[in-house]
Amino acid sequence: MTMNNQGRPTKASDAMETNVNTFTGNKALMIEEALSFEVGDLSGSGVDLPEAKNKTNRLGGLERNTDIGLPGLSEPEAMRHFVRLSQKNYAIDMGPFPLGSCTMKHNPRLNEKVARLPGFADLHPLAPESAAQGALELIDTLAFWLKELTGMPAVAMSPKAGAHGELCGMMAIKAALEARGEADKRVRVLAPESAHGTNPATAVQCGFKVEAIPGDKTGRVDLEALKAKLGDDVAGIMVTNPNTCGLFERDIRAIADAVHEAGGYFYCDGANFNAIAGKVKPGDLGVDAMHINLHKTFSTPHGGGGPGAGPTVLSDALAPFAPLPYVFLEDGKYRLVETLHHAEAEDSGETLGRLTAFHGQMGMFVRALSYMMSHGRDGLKQASEDAVLNANYVLARLKTEMTPSFDGPCMHEALFDDRFLKDTGVETIDFAKAMIDEGYHPMTMYFPLVVHGAMLIEPTESESKRELDLFCDALLSLAKRAKAGDDVAAFKAAPVYAPRRRLDETAAARHPVLRWTPPQQAEAAE
Ligand SMILES: *Cc1c(COP(=O)(O)O)cnc(C)c1O
Repeated sequence: MTMNNQGRPTKASDAMETNVNTFTGNKALMIEEALSFEVGDLSGSGVDLPEAKNKTNRLGGLERNTDIGLPGLSEPEAMRHFVRLSQKNYAIDMGPFPLGSCTMKHNPRLNEKVARLPGFADLHPLAPESAAQGALELIDTLAFWLKELTGMPAVAMSPKAGAHGELCGMMAIKAALEARGEADKRVRVLAPESAHGTNPATAVQCGFKVEAIPGDKTGRVDLEALKAKLGDDVAGIMVTNPNTCGLFERDIRAIADAVHEAGGYFYCDGANFNAIAGKVKPGDLGVDAMHINLHKTFSTPHGGGGPGAGPTVLSDALAPFAPLPYVFLEDGKYRLVETLHHAEAEDSGETLGRLTAFHGQMGMFVRALSYMMSHGRDGLKQASEDAVLNANYVLARLKTEMTPSFDGPCMHEALFDDRFLKDTGVETIDFAKAMIDEGYHPMTMYFPLVVHGAMLIEPTESESKRELDLFCDALLSLAKRAKAGDDVAAFKAAPVYAPRRRLDETAAARHPVLRWTPPQQAEAAE
């Protein structure tokens, strides 16, 4: 055992390896967490007081006289339950989160501080325009910079996620086709094989038929194959750039031109805008609509399924169909145009209507603008450059033991496949589970579908060289262990240090158990 200069061991001692069967089932800070319903007494609350004598109440017979059915826990019990649950989550504030495509970058504390300013945080969404001038100005300012960074003339601020932004963009395309009288004819949408699942899902949701465009050997859209699929029944294409293999689509201008020539529109999935913000303007690439995931490129928190924000920039051709509401500056006052019949809304006569209640994710707008302004023009460009540099550093270090799917440098994420695991008995899933024991959230696995056993790593600009080196060392050691072939059982057993081992995630997703049934009732039901 080695000691540091304060006399503390620098490595966990061997004693930790021995399995101690604790009375509680807890392993130090790893607490076995029962459901609050299993712990709390359903017949009382945590702080029941004796019935008051001779009391009268003024509820006029409306008072509850059945049990509320919530577990009776004291405040500290309830508090600890939820705090302990929160600590079972891996979070960007706990360690690197290398999920490719998801862009899990650091959420700067400054953003949080600004979002908590009472003027933003406490403003009611139904406050009148006159009392919300600052908030409206903030939405307008963020909109301005999103248009500036993308080189696009319009932006819809209200979509609440990337997928929601896709819906907004594809609905605008549909509306434009309807206005041209071609909606019945143009029914096909083309998307590369490597597309994120939300792309085809969105197109289908809008009533289109999706057709896959094959990729070429370099991991990019095959331009000739794309051209062969174009025709007067094509509504448009959905292309991610940089794409989900972490590569810039070099033919992007030719792709846009070909689609426009065929009378279609170009939807760009902008989830990877973080690789090119400040460097390339999608408007210069012929894009008609593109969502921007504020929780990816502009550092707002992802959260469990929300609150995301997916403002969607639109070209001149699609801008008239933008959704409501939008912010409008008139005689020095900010107005919120909410209805079709608003006097100023003449140019929104063909608007596709509302996508959300209120105005979008205000808290995320504040954070995103805070990120933009604290970085400035040069800083945003550097963030993109650093994200690309970090990904290439990871690619260069890991390719000594792992197999990159495509030759040459990458953009913001490095894609590997499972060829380096061939004949080892270890699969992508085992490799990922072993990373959990090393204290890392695994990278994106089995996506994109165009390579076998995909492992997509996106370090973002947040990570220092020290963090990247430790991460790479851990993965290299796992790759060497897997290839040595004497450790397959350990890989299959991983994770061993997590509170739970391998969960049946498919069953959990397909048959979620969302309701707790008291044991007596559950027994009776059997
Ligand atoms: C994240 C992502 C989406 C969907 O964005 P959400 O904000 O999660 O709805 C779409 N496409 C790509 C390529 C993505 O990475």
